[in-house]
Amino acid sequence: MRGVVMYAPGDVRVEEREHPTIVEPTDAIIRVAASCICGSDLWPYRGAEDVDHTPMGHEYVGVVTEIGGEVRNVKVGDFVVGSFFASDNTCEICRAGYQSRCVHAHPMGAIGTQAEYARIPLADGTLVATPGEPDTDLIPSLLAASDVLGTGWFAAVAAEAGPGKTVAVVGDGAVGLLGILAARELGAERIIAMSRHADRQALAREFGATDIVEERGDAGVARINELTEGLGAHSVIEAVGTQESMMQAIDATRPGGHVGYVGVSHDVSLDGLTLFFSGVHLHGGPAPVRRFLPDLIRLIWERKIDPGKVFDLTLPLEQAPEGYRAMDERRATKVLLTV
Ligand SMILES: [Zn+2]
Repeated sequence: MRGVVMYAPGDVRVEEREHPTIVEPTDAIIRVAASCICGSDLWPYRGAEDVDHTPMGHEYVGVVTEIGGEVRNVKVGDFVVGSFFASDNTCEICRAGYQSRCVHAHPMGAIGTQAEYARIPLADGTLVATPGEPDTDLIPSLLAASDVLGTGWFAAVAAEAGPGKTVAVVGDGAVGLLGILAARELGAERIIAMSRHADRQALAREFGATDIVEERGDAGVARINELTEGLGAHSVIEAVGTQESMMQAIDATRPGGHVGYVGVSHDVSLDGLTLFFSGVHLHGGPAPVRRFLPDLIRLIWERKIDPGKVFDLTLPLEQAPEGYRAMDERRATKVLLTV
């Protein structure tokens, strides 16, 4: 089968990979219907994470083609959505809603779903079947649920977005944009998007942003304070993962407010005294997307939300290298790969 492999930073190839087979009786094999390139795939692409002949991809939707002997919840022919961590969904951590930290978690990035087929470990816990074969136009939104929508949703929940709240969103990538959509769905009163790109500002407004702040860093924080009577936002979503974005998020949050951080942290260090006097709640990490999947699939199926709009470039799997270039050069927010 064909699959994407990153040989080294900046060197992405599509080549023959071994067809996956059932390894554990709890596995399923899916024929991938669509995959995509994640903002987090840019970290190794840019040399900020180690990479060496690594199969790529952790987002996926597809059709089950084979199941192991112990799989009960999905069957051959089901159209399924899963998250970027396989999880049993039965351990104490999973039952508390933190499936990405399941005691048996498998990172799907180690499997590489930018490919024609993928092995899904712990299929019963990981996969959620859609009510039927989806219309083609729903596939981008279902694929978004696999990571960026689920992650934006978790960020909004972690930041306690809700009625009466002012929510600020740091980061205008796919996750930040879908954090805006989530905050709107959760009933936030005011949503401030921090973005300086006209096309992303437009999508932010479509997803529910009421205000746009173009300034960054301390100037961005000052602007949030101006918009909130000097208090700061109740809820701030951090969807970048840098020192500047994390401090921007903490500093833009009012005392007693909540920061939901989901940008994969790179070289961030927090000053204890600053944290101490900020008086904010910090909650985040790798999003337990599985917790939200049934609800997200229902909202998409009923056409109440359209998160697939974050994909602004669609390419066949064979053109994945161009997809990586387009995202690296910020010509695309999020690239969908058709398989
Ligand atoms: Zn578990």
